Amino acid sequence: MPFVVPSILVQQYGPVSGRIPFDALVTGGTPGWRLWLPAARCHRAMMAAARTAGFDPRSTGTYRTYERQVSLFKERYSWTNTGVGRKFWPVSLGGDDHYWWKIQNPVTKKYPADAAVPGTSEHGWGCADDVAEELDGDAPVESISAAFHIWLTINARDYGFEQTNRSENWHWAYTLGGVIPPLVLIYEQPLPPPPPPPPPIVPPVAPKGKKMIYLVRAWNSTEVYATDGLQKWHYNPTQYQWAKNMSVFGFPFVFDGSTGGPLVVDPDVIDQLPLAGGT
Ligand SMILES: [Zn+2]
Repeated sequence: MPFVVPSILVQQYGPVSGRIPFDALVTGGTPGWRLWLPAARCHRAMMAAARTAGFDPRSTGTYRTYERQVSLFKERYSWTNTGVGRKFWPVSLGGDDHYWWKIQNPVTKKYPADAAVPGTSEHGWGCADDVAEELDGDAPVESISAAFHIWLTINARDYGFEQTNRSENWHWAYTLGGVIPPLVLIYEQPLPPPPPPPPPIVPPVAPKGKKMIYLVRAWNSTEVYATDGLQKWHYNPTQYQWAKNMSVFGFPFVFDGSTGGPLVVDPDVIDQLPLAGGT
């Protein structure tokens, strides 16, 4: 959908974009990052989703004041008719009721990127971000990759953002005028409280004349050891069966194949097992 100028912002700050005071905007992690609250919420959720998808997105241009837009516009456009990018800047938007054309670079013969007529920029509504990407790990950010552009094209709409200028693949604007899409609300759901901690493990106490041992199997081994915490004994499958039978002493014998369970044995029996070094 096309960009919707947020009516509440027009009511509060007038129809010319770039007139929102800084303190009415949300600031972000980087200096100068400012967006209107609904846009900021959607942006935050969208960027989190992009990071989950493996991208490292960066903002390079968010809110822009009217004055900043004027200087940007005048860097790129003039009264000279080059036949390229004609724009009308009306008095109602602080202009001169003149047509302006893009200035051609005399050396490269190229024309600059678009700049909105001052007073109409989506940046001036705190709703647009010029998105870059960190690709090589060093300080300057890179232009967004083809892969990330595809990801944004598919997913940004779910977060209320769209590429609103066909010739600028970096320019993404929040177009919903204040509506927050469901995916953003889901992202903002508080995390469920952590589960209560498990009860402390109380080691069972061996009955008089018996000894408590544990069966242990290392995660990377099929070999089973018996240990009383001080010594370690080799333990073969026959003895495993024997160990299971020993559980009749009334203590739960748990052996799930990877971890040991407490086991009550006669000291005589355990002494017959071959030692396997310290624990
Ligand atoms: Zn932009």
